Amino acid sequence: MEQPIAVTRQSFDDWMVPVYAPADFILVRGEGSQVWDQQGKSYIDFAGGIAVNALGHAHPVVTAALVEQAGKLWHLGNGYTNEPVLRLAKQLIDATFADKVFFCNSGAEANEAALKLARKRALDQGNSSKNQIVAFNNAFHGRTLFTVSAGGQPKYSKDFAPLPGGITHTPFNDLAAAAEVINDQTCAVIVEPIQGEGGVLPADPAFLQGLRELCDRHDAVLIFDEVQTGMGRTGELYAYTQYGVVPDVLTTAKALGCGFPIGAMLTTDELAKTLGVGTHGTTYGGNPLATAVAGAVFSIINTPEVLEGVKQRHQWFLDGLNKINQQYPIFSEIRGGGLLIGCQLTQDYAGKAKQITQLANEEGVIALIAGPDVVRFTPSLIIPEQDVKEGLARFARAVARICS
Ligand SMILES: *Cc1c(COP(=O)(O)O)cnc(C)c1O
Repeated sequence: MEQPIAVTRQSFDDWMVPVYAPADFILVRGEGSQVWDQQGKSYIDFAGGIAVNALGHAHPVVTAALVEQAGKLWHLGNGYTNEPVLRLAKQLIDATFADKVFFCNSGAEANEAALKLARKRALDQGNSSKNQIVAFNNAFHGRTLFTVSAGGQPKYSKDFAPLPGGITHTPFNDLAAAAEVINDQTCAVIVEPIQGEGGVLPADPAFLQGLRELCDRHDAVLIFDEVQTGMGRTGELYAYTQYGVVPDVLTTAKALGCGFPIGAMLTTDELAKTLGVGTHGTTYGGNPLATAVAGAVFSIINTPEVLEGVKQRHQWFLDGLNKINQQYPIFSEIRGGGLLIGCQLTQDYAGKAKQITQLANEEGVIALIAGPDVVRFTPSLIIPEQDVKEGLARFARAVARICS
């Protein structure tokens, strides 16, 4: 057999379009919440592939579902439906407000579908000027041109002008400002219940409630982007139930496939009618391989044991992080829900989040940032207590180094 091509971290710089700056080691294997690099060094994974690997690495039930489906049927195209996609649709519908599901391959695509649905719905009602979308500063909705324009971080969109029009941004958690721009020309409001990439900033319940009322008053579609908060991350299947505010459209991805690419847009019967035959689609969306995996993931996450376990793990993290912060006061706030936790750095350590995660890597733990001033943790929802303890001990050593 031919030898595999030798690859190192340098190969990335040699061969890859440089949109990422990955860590200076290459991970080759994972099991549960541990991963190992090419040199055999172990890391505790507190990032979970950016809130994706909700059941850790190589979960036996999920792997079995993938392998079984891989031997049966991978792909058909949407001229033919399949059993796994229909089963997954039924699981999602039974567990949420939704009556209908559209499947795609990523979070951005799910949001793209949601925004297109809202525009077309208004047009179908004969209201061609009802095309305005309201979104929020600091939001993140994906990297397609439409979703990156809906996102509220101009640094991600400004280089790609001309951008799709008709999108207005107002400050997150400022209901009065939102009320000023939501009117009868508004077709959609898109919001994350907890802004993830933007810094792990939870919405105030009154803010989401107020957006619901404004959308009702002006017949606008309320879209909850639960791509990051979704599928158990906050200790509920979806965060909207915690807030007691039901959206018209919910988008989900990340944890849904636990690492296998899949996204979905959930909505009501009435809104689903907007996207009739031929109006939208994607080649791979809802393919049997992805949906078989997601079906297995869903069955495990949507159980009281896992969801209650997330709340318990939240406390383990909080206790551990507070203890670190007592010894080395570098966090001004620790916030978030469930296993979506953000640690805001104090003024003295502003801008050092990346450096802290690099030191954490050296100590053998993987953490994320959410902007330059926030260290973020989004581990597996079933991470064992021992791994939490060991990972936090390693993280504490990284913090000690930045403080010295
Ligand atoms: C990650 C993320 C997206 C984009 O998902 P992709 O799968 O990268 O396209 C959209 N919205 C939120 C809230 C996210 O966290």
